[in-house]
Amino acid sequence: MSNLYIFSNDLRLADNKALFEASQKSDSLEAVFIFNPKKWNDHNESPLKIKFQLLNLEILKKDLNELNINLKIIHANGIEEEAQKIVEEALRVNASGIYLNREYGINERRRDSDLEKLLLTKNIQFNSFDSSIINPDLIKTGSDTFFKVFTPFSRAFRSLLDKNFLELTPGPKKQKKIFNGSDQIPEFNLENNNHKNAISLYPPGENSALKTVEDFLNSKISDYKKYRDFPKLDSTSGLSPYFASGVISAKTCVNLLLNQSEDSPGTGEYSWFNEVIWREFYKYIIYHYPRVSMKKSFNEKYENVVWRDDPKSFDAWCNGKTGIPLIDAAMTQLNETGWMHNRLRMVVAMFLSKNLLIDWKKGEEYFMKNLIDGDHASNVGGWQWSASTGVDAAPYFRIFNPITQSEKFDKEGDFIKKFIPLLSDLSPKEVHNPELDLRAKLNYPKMIVDLSSSRKRAIETFSAI
Ligand SMILES: Cc1cc2nc3c(=O)[nH]c(=O)nc-3n(C[C@H](O)[C@H](O)[C@H](O)COP(=O)(O)OP(=O)(O)OC[C@H]3O[C@@H](n4cnc5c(N)ncnc54)[C@H](O)[C@@H]3O)c2cc1C
Repeated sequence: MSNLYIFSNDLRLADNKALFEASQKSDSLEAVFIFNPKKWNDHNESPLKIKFQLLNLEILKKDLNELNINLKIIHANGIEEEAQKIVEEALRVNASGIYLNREYGINERRRDSDLEKLLLTKNIQFNSFDSSIINPDLIKTGSDTFFKVFTPFSRAFRSLLDKNFLELTPGPKKQKKIFNGSDQIPEFNLENNNHKNAISLYPPGENSALKTVEDFLNSKISDYKKYRDFPKLDSTSGLSPYFASGVISAKTCVNLLLNQSEDSPGTGEYSWFNEVIWREFYKYIIYHYPRVSMKKSFNEKYENVVWRDDPKSFDAWCNGKTGIPLIDAAMTQLNETGWMHNRLRMVVAMFLSKNLLIDWKKGEEYFMKNLIDGDHASNVGGWQWSASTGVDAAPYFRIFNPITQSEKFDKEGDFIKKFIPLLSDLSPKEVHNPELDLRAKLNYPKMIVDLSSSRKRAIETFSAI
């Protein structure tokens, strides 16, 4: 009996339910990766993230071949073609079952539903498995509805989390027969010079992911709560590129965490686990409230916000030329490394959606196109939180002042100076908001917007709705 397993954002052998199950019931198994540049483009996936995925796939191919599992590359032109292409491959190898881990984005769900219908007509089994720690259908409020607020969700999540949910799936079984040999992974060249340089910052492979979480849990987690908001410190886990492509499962990390410490409020461990639960929460939200996955505001009334059309300011924001040092340093971090610190993601997102009153969807798209850890659910969630249009979002009148944020979280200006060397000789007093004559001397731009009047404009716009 032969089976097909379809890769999605789960590029790993460890704790991979669909791959494990597919391997149990077959003598021969093919693992399929769909090479789909049109889909990547339609979903604004960054070339850096795709390159990272293909580098991971090279390592996986070797590991799969040792288990007599072949890697098959299928080419498709858009997600709409994927179901048909999978069926064609299943018929070609005479597969009796298709196995995959579910993705919760609306297009992925439509694809899976098309696939299931097509397979039914061919008498091929469709088997799909949950990709979150706890099945999103099981987490409900006391009145049998689905949560919209994080804190009660996280409480319910923690109370449900028992041994059953935390049990890790063993690695796939070695196959008796092999197919015809694995396919070569297609060339994928990075055109953006920043991305070419950045890719080496993220070593691929399951072992690298495991080392990253182990190093973090061994040395940084106890201070996580204290230091996580300071962008100059390397105090967060740096796991997001691995999570976003599924090189390691969140469940594996939570297991490691809970094996070494109690989940007690007030600790670094508790606070880090909370962030991992935020990730689960945003997946849960796009699953239960699919409008969020369709470029719509969670809070319907904010569909009526009249955003400003201001390409010049948007361009300045993208290129780190707003004249606000912390924002410019943060955008430079994104452009140069494909990653941005969480505190700064909130600051730049609020600045774009509130002070510039530019549609959050534009910023969300720019992030996806450049992040190595671009994750549809977390990115839309984070953007809508910042723009106050989302689930459990920041209230519209609570707008971060980027200068105050800079003074608080980058007191000495070290982070700013790292990414804007032009400002490296300025004192801590000057660096957050240099005087006009200093800007002129250093050729650093003036602020593109007045922070006080633009804040007022945003509050008036939102309160009118
Ligand atoms: C506007 C905006 C956009 C964002 N876009 C993304 C995105 O595309 N992909 C992404 O993975 N994260 C996104 N985040 C969340 C967060 O910024 C990153 O997950 C975090 O910076 C990754 O660094 P880390 O792995 O060192 O995190 P750690 O602090 O070590 O946290 C551990 C893990 O928890 C999860 N996590 C942490 N913070 C959040 C959060 N606020 N929301 C959801 N999950 C979280 C991540 O998976 C992270 O890897 C966004 C946040 C905002 C405000």
